[in-house]
Parts: sequence; C-alpha cells; structure tokens
Amino acid sequence: MMVMTKNLSAIDVLRQMFGDAVQEHAILAPYTSARIGGPADVLLTVKSVDEFANAMQLIWEYELPYYILGGGSNVLVSDKGFRGVVVLNRAKEVRFDAGDQPQVWCEAGVVIANLARRCASKRLAGLEWSATVPGTVGARCMAMLARSAVT
Ligand SMILES: Cc1cc2nc3c(=O)[nH]c(=O)nc-3n(C[C@H](O)[C@H](O)[C@H](O)COP(=O)(O)OP(=O)(O)OC[C@H]3O[C@@H](n4cnc5c(N)ncnc54)[C@H](O)[C@@H]3O)c2cc1C
Repeated sequence: MMVMTKNLSAIDVLRQMFGDAVQEHAILAPYTSARIGGPADVLLTVKSVDEFANAMQLIWEYELPYYILGGGSNVLVSDKGFRGVVVLNRAKEVRFDAGDQPQVWCEAGVVIANLARRCASKRLAGLEWSATVPGTVGARCMAMLARSAVT
C-alpha cells in the first residue's frame, strides 16, 4: 500500500483537487473489457484535458506510481490490482471546425469508433478505418507512437 502509507499527503492533495473523482481501493474489473482486475490503491477519473494535465503534474511532482487507463480494451489487470494511482481518462470533448478545410479537435478519452461515426455524420472522411476499432483516441495515439518507435 505504497500510496496509502508513504504518500498520504499526496492523496490528500488529490482529494482536494478532484473530490469524489478520487476513489481508494477501487476494483478495476468494471473498467476493462475483460472484466477482470483487482483494486487500485487510488482510481482517479479525469473528465477534461485540464484535469488530466493537473493530475499528471501532481503525480509526477509526488513521484507516485501511476497507470493511465482508457477504454480498458487492451489491458489485463491482475487480481492483485495496481499499487499506485490509476488515471481513468474520461475526457471526451469533441469540436468540429467547419470551413474550407474542416478540422476536428478532440480530447484523448473519446472512443475512436464514436469519433469516426460523428465525423461520418458530418461528411468528414479519413477515420473510416477506425469505425470498428475498440478503445480511445489517446491509447490509439500511444500505440501508433510505440509502433513508429520500433520500426
Ligand atoms: C479485440 C480488439 C480488437 C482490436 N482491433 C483493432 C483494429 O482493428 N485496428 C487497430 O488499429 N487496433 C485494434 N485494436 C487495438 C486497440 O484499438 C488499441 O489497443 C487501443 O488503443 C486500445 O484503447 P483503450 O482506450 O481501450 O486502451 P487501454 O486498454 O485502456 O490501454 C491500452 C494502453 O494504452 C495506454 N493508454 C491509454 N490511454 C492513454 C493515454 N491517454 N495516454 C497514454 N497512454 C494511454 C494504457 O496505459 C495501456 O498501456 C484492437 C484491440 C482489441 C482488444
């Protein structure tokens, strides 16, 4: 229980900043597609990019062990859970910028298949490949970065 004992003040700060979005000893199974996984010392749900940035700043500042969870479609969590802070990314804002060259801006917690459907409904092409892909935009970006780093 590293976070609970050594870093109690960090948890207090997280609670001050995020209130009820901080859950201690939270079972992770409901947040994964496989529906398995034991408790995280702390589960912190962020709902905007600013909350995400603030959470990560604090986590880095206090050097807390952490894990970022998106849609949970590509992770298997041990029954022993996770000793540290799991940051559950539920930042889902999407903005469409119409015009000569339409643009889409979104937060990393948007489910990529939903984004593809929303783009299609606005006649914006390019994301068709992701219409059946599980998971969030942020996780997908990280996967692509990891792939490009090894090739
Ligand atoms: C059944 C299945 C079918 C799939 N089919 C396809 C397919 O057809 N095409 C394809 O391209 N991919 C496919 N994938 C891969 C999947 O889309 C990616 O792994 C996706 O990124 C998972 O998203 P998630 O939000 O569920 O991530 P999670 O399962 O929550 O996390 C996966 C990893 O990403 C990290 N992560 C999550 N969010 C962030 C973030 N915001 N910042 C940094 N790291 C983060 C996590 O720490 C973890 O290491 C498939 C996966 C599965 C399980």
